[in-house]
Amino acid sequence: MISNNIVDIKERIKSAALKAGRDISEIVIIAACKNRNTEQIKEVIDSGIVNIGENRVQEALLKYNQLLTIDHRPSTVRWHMIGHLQTNKVKQAVEIFDLIQTVDSFELAKEIDKRANQINKIQRILIEVKTSSEATKTGILPGETENLVQQVLNLPNLKLEGLMTVAPLVDDPEKTRPYFRKLRELKINIDRLPATGDRLTILSMGMSDDFEIAIEEGSTMIRLGRAIFEGVK
Ligand SMILES: *Cc1c(COP(=O)(O)O)cnc(C)c1O
Repeated sequence: MISNNIVDIKERIKSAALKAGRDISEIVIIAACKNRNTEQIKEVIDSGIVNIGENRVQEALLKYNQLLTIDHRPSTVRWHMIGHLQTNKVKQAVEIFDLIQTVDSFELAKEIDKRANQINKIQRILIEVKTSSEATKTGILPGETENLVQQVLNLPNLKLEGLMTVAPLVDDPEKTRPYFRKLRELKINIDRLPATGDRLTILSMGMSDDFEIAIEEGSTMIRLGRAIFEGVK
């Protein structure tokens, strides 16, 4: 059951945080809901997780609207874009997402800024970094991240809040550690830039197989799909 899975997950978060000397209040759970239906999402929300992650704008819109009709507390739910965002989907994306986690080019950032401006919104975003050299992964290269940060800070309708990464698939979760560490170090370097100061507060990293490692490396936002919906340990 979803609610039992979430109880287990919270215990594991607590242990990982304790091990790392961190406070659990620093760690937010995002339910990664791609390919899950609205009933399942409702169960997640009823279990106390109000941050919903989606990978595709179309699928998110559908569930967003379905949820409005069955859930009496829609305003408590926060939607996160965690999949690659195409420029031609930005207009719809800014209408529903509280946090777009996958900004990986200045072109995309400019389009989000423009569309947000049209609806009088300040759009919260994260920059997605490709911390591994795996060819299939999206995200900006670590060496280009500082430059994109500087560019994004000049766009008035965006609020940059942190960095996101997806670790490569590995047989042993421990092997993801270097990628999470790389993202944390990148954030430390960006925090030193005069223009950014302490603006970046979010490190979105860690999924069902590796969230404990990510928490040890400083994650403040873990994105869980299979652990929530399938009880994967
Ligand atoms: C699917 C997905 C997740 C969750 O993956 P699980 O392994 O099911 O926890 C997290 N982040 C992104 C970007 C995803 O696409």
